[in-house]
Amino acid sequence: MDRSRMNDQEHRSLVQRLFHESMRIVLEPLIEAGTNGVEMTSSDGAVRRVHPILTCYVADYPEQCLVACTKYGTCVKCKTPANDLQNPEPGENRDQQWTEKIIYEAKQAADNKPQKFHSYCMSHDVAGSVYKPFWTGFPLCDIHRSITPDVLHQLYQGVFKHLVHWCQRVLTPQELDRRIRALPPAYGLRQFKNGIFAMSQISGTERKNMAKILLGCLVGCMPAQGIAAVTALLDFIYLAQYPAHDSNTLDYLQDALDRFQKNREYFILTGVRKDFNIPKFHSLLHYIEAIQLFGTTDNYNTEMFERLHIDFAKHGWRASNQRDEFPQMIQWLSRQEKVISFEFHQKDLQRSQADINSEDMDSETVLLQPLSKKKASISISKHPNFPRRKISLIEDKHNAPDFTHYLKVFLNSFIATKVPRAYLDQSKLPFEHVNVYNMFRFHPQGIHDEEEESDIVKALPRSAQNPHGRFDTVIAITKETAESTGLTGTRVGRVRVIFTLPDEVPSITGLRPAPRNWPKEPLVYIEWYSTLERAANPRNGLMYRIKKVSTTVNQKTRVQGAILPLSSIRQSCMLFPIFPASVPVHWTPDSVLDHASSFYVNNWLSKYDYQTIW
Ligand SMILES: [Zn+2]
Repeated sequence: MDRSRMNDQEHRSLVQRLFHESMRIVLEPLIEAGTNGVEMTSSDGAVRRVHPILTCYVADYPEQCLVACTKYGTCVKCKTPANDLQNPEPGENRDQQWTEKIIYEAKQAADNKPQKFHSYCMSHDVAGSVYKPFWTGFPLCDIHRSITPDVLHQLYQGVFKHLVHWCQRVLTPQELDRRIRALPPAYGLRQFKNGIFAMSQISGTERKNMAKILLGCLVGCMPAQGIAAVTALLDFIYLAQYPAHDSNTLDYLQDALDRFQKNREYFILTGVRKDFNIPKFHSLLHYIEAIQLFGTTDNYNTEMFERLHIDFAKHGWRASNQRDEFPQMIQWLSRQEKVISFEFHQKDLQRSQADINSEDMDSETVLLQPLSKKKASISISKHPNFPRRKISLIEDKHNAPDFTHYLKVFLNSFIATKVPRAYLDQSKLPFEHVNVYNMFRFHPQGIHDEEEESDIVKALPRSAQNPHGRFDTVIAITKETAESTGLTGTRVGRVRVIFTLPDEVPSITGLRPAPRNWPKEPLVYIEWYSTLERAANPRNGLMYRIKKVSTTVNQKTRVQGAILPLSSIRQSCMLFPIFPASVPVHWTPDSVLDHASSFYVNNWLSKYDYQTIW
């Protein structure tokens, strides 16, 4: 039939029928195999009889509707009508038999008139084009149940996209952008130098980066109810991506959804929304059941397939000579897997060897044994970037005027007769130089995530190219009570200097070896922020609030600081400056940590931070 003779609906119907007919041809062998079983060899060599059945169908929303013969704009999993999608409870489940029944009734009522068939189906929220869905007759299949959540399209490109849009309307896009542009840099965070308003074609990765910083830009501009709604939705998005779940974490997921529903009214009161009858928001009601049925969302994330398509198809094809390509592509892929697993094994091996004896390591980096299982291992360059750097120069270039003072306090703890604190400043340091490093690297263990395999902390001196220097912020373990997650027993600080003490110190007779009990390991000089509150305030989006602090001794005011072993740093962290009513123009990413005096600790920067900073 000629397209020019069809109206849009007729054309759409034909395309949908073509899809179902084609899928049936592709998947029909599953009926026989699912019913009677097929013999398959598993990796252990045993041959087993397997009954493959259609259990999961991973697709974005338009495809979900197409596959499940559901009217566009309604829920593919339950019978909630389009104008009631905001109902906090899901409706009665759709099931395959019911959909088939509606299609059957429609055929009876239609009298061979497609238009009648269409309207009968649509009046029951069933797509009115397909006479025989491809899944009819599949053993143990319920197509509605098979439809899975979709983190990329539903959460990031759906729910979160809406949320950002609403926040832009509340704050004005310009104000939100001013805040985003002034945030300090952090490892693993894409910086939006021009803000986000002017961006077009926003990718999933860019949305993820926005999710890391959104809340910190809203606190202070939005009342408690708005903050609670945004926090709840972000909680849902992060929790839904947990790589493992139990009944507790599923309760958290439910709680996040409840909190959003309780507080979403804010967006209606501000006139941003009239209702929440949005299919992607409604789909959140079906996440917990899907996780219980099919496991964590990483098992059926469309992102994975989009990613795998690149490796399996695009790269594999390029590696072949493009003739009889399949065997070549499969061989290429299996070699890739071997290379990756070898590299993984080798890394592991290196790491454990380094733990045994870091001196023998013939590499440019030295790995430090973590203090305990409480934290990631840390590596640092074998040679300092600035050997024997003069301390007065460091104080100037690192904006660390109290470095000498805290060095004295630190060394004082290694001598038998302690100098009283009040007299410390009158004493003299026994050396004038230390060895300075630019950065160190974390290797978080246990919580796997490709994005943040390692994490870098920098303390870069001021220079002509970098007039502010760069001094990153970290979470350090200060008490025995600290655990691998949560902030109990920790404190947030800014790393000013990464260094080692000299091996030799001057004496009247020339250089002599440094006292034996001085630490040989790398140290950090940290400027502390205020100690953490007992619990984070919901008004602040459940983020901890900290501020710069100083102490006054002998009428001299100093920042609060300390020298610590590098190994007592648990992780890096990003701080959100607390903005005044309007963002000052001189607050730039390079200088904002110097200008602002109070901050929130960002727990949204990575999945690792989300699970450890609370
Ligand atoms: Zn539903």
